Amino acid sequence: MNAMTAIAELMGPAAVLTSPEDIAPYAVDWRSAYRGTPEAVLRPSTTAEVAETVKRCAAENLAIVPAGGRTGLSGGAVPQANGPKSVVLSLERMNRIRDIDARDFSLVAEAGCVVQNVQQAAAEAGRLFPIQWGAQGTAQIGGMLSTNAGGIRTLRWGNARELVLGLEVVLPDGRILDDLRRVRKDNSGYALRHLFIGGEGTLGIITAAAMRLQPALKRVETAYVAVPSPDAALSLFSRMMESGAEVIGFELCARFCMEMADRHGVGLRLPLPLESPWFVMLELAAAHASIPLREIMEECLGAAMEAGEVTDAAIAESEAQRQAIWKIREDYPECGRMEGPAVNTDTSVPVSAVPEFLRIAEKEMKARWPEGRMAAIGHAGDGNIHVSLMAPPGMKDRPAWVARAGEMEPLVNAIAVSLGGSFSAEHGIGQSKRHAMAAHKDPVAMDVMRLVKDALDPDRRMNPGKVLP
Ligand SMILES: Cc1cc2nc3c(=O)[nH]c(=O)nc-3n(C[C@H](O)[C@H](O)[C@H](O)COP(=O)(O)OP(=O)(O)OC[C@H]3O[C@@H](n4cnc5c(N)ncnc54)[C@H](O)[C@@H]3O)c2cc1C
Repeated sequence: MNAMTAIAELMGPAAVLTSPEDIAPYAVDWRSAYRGTPEAVLRPSTTAEVAETVKRCAAENLAIVPAGGRTGLSGGAVPQANGPKSVVLSLERMNRIRDIDARDFSLVAEAGCVVQNVQQAAAEAGRLFPIQWGAQGTAQIGGMLSTNAGGIRTLRWGNARELVLGLEVVLPDGRILDDLRRVRKDNSGYALRHLFIGGEGTLGIITAAAMRLQPALKRVETAYVAVPSPDAALSLFSRMMESGAEVIGFELCARFCMEMADRHGVGLRLPLPLESPWFVMLELAAAHASIPLREIMEECLGAAMEAGEVTDAAIAESEAQRQAIWKIREDYPECGRMEGPAVNTDTSVPVSAVPEFLRIAEKEMKARWPEGRMAAIGHAGDGNIHVSLMAPPGMKDRPAWVARAGEMEPLVNAIAVSLGGSFSAEHGIGQSKRHAMAAHKDPVAMDVMRLVKDALDPDRRMNPGKVLP
């Protein structure tokens, strides 16, 4: 009996997908840039079943590619084309919230929980699960942690890593590492969970996580403002950070990005005319209703206008208007995808270097690919700007554009690194950034990573062809 038959017998038919139609969605990534051919998709529903699945796959020398919501942007959840024989191990049936404790400000969720469902469960308990980004309705906790996702609130509550108190992980040899503790202080040796957070499934399979919650937000003020330049946006950022309110979102968007949102977005309405070269979406929040947030927002924006940092502003007057502003940001990646092929980056620099980064990137890109269209949008409040080079209008052939302008990515990575930044801010390495690891990562760090990989996964069965060059 082979592994698939044995797993189906043990765990039921829902645990194994083998027909080409069922497997097809797991064989391609969100951007349709990577394709692979898994032998099957395995869908265990408990931690014990994940462990058993891993052992059965090991016995047949099958590589394992863990998959969450498959919204990753680096090709990590898709088997490598021409890679070793592999299965996709989807966590989608492990979708229970095991515990939620408002007094402890924590919850325990299984890896297959959709991020938005965890946000809702926290809200129902009067708490905030603070991470937020465009794919939260599909991305899962396991994927979120394995990519150490960021999003629009990283500037206030950090990346996914900062939310984690403990983890449960199935190791490549099938053993279960039980570190699922909600305790805040524990200095008992190496913090092993940090190997798996951001590990992109190359060291083990996350099956559940204990995570921090925050007090629910009682007041939120959101604005969409026009700014003359990234320098002006940076001054506005300092002003807001010094205002006494919590700044929980600060997104910088080039006009071209807002034009694409306007062109392709369904049900999107831009709050201001497309007359400014740059726009900022910003959000202030407070956990107590008595904080005069509206006054703070108006006062700061008024002073910023006098100082020339802001040329126009629209403050959300209702929850519906607030959501409409964030919908523009969250739907933007899909709008960009509809515009046409692009070469994308996921760079970060120190916040103070954002204007210089954009200046250099624009100059270099214009000089080399004058026919391309530069798009820049990102979480300026934490220094993570996504610069893309879109194909000329009407060009639909992705491989042709990548062949022509693919060198833009290493160029922009190098600019970010030269300014003290990173070539991989929040999307991970997957398949798409391995060349950048080889180019920029400290050789000693690479050495240690290989030692860790060899120690935990000596047969290299976990997500082969990802992360390590
Ligand atoms: C529209 C859109 C907007 C986005 N915006 C942002 C953003 O603002 N910030 C941001 O950080 N990201 C963003 N992303 C990227 C993506 O949503 C995140 O990387 C997300 O964390 C991936 O979660 P997922 O469940 O879809 O993971 P998947 O894509 O399924 O997997 C990602 C990686 O994690 C591994 N993995 C998945 N589950 C497990 C597990 N249980 N154990 C071990 N390894 C596992 C996979 O093998 C793969 O290497 C965006 C994506 C889209 C499509």
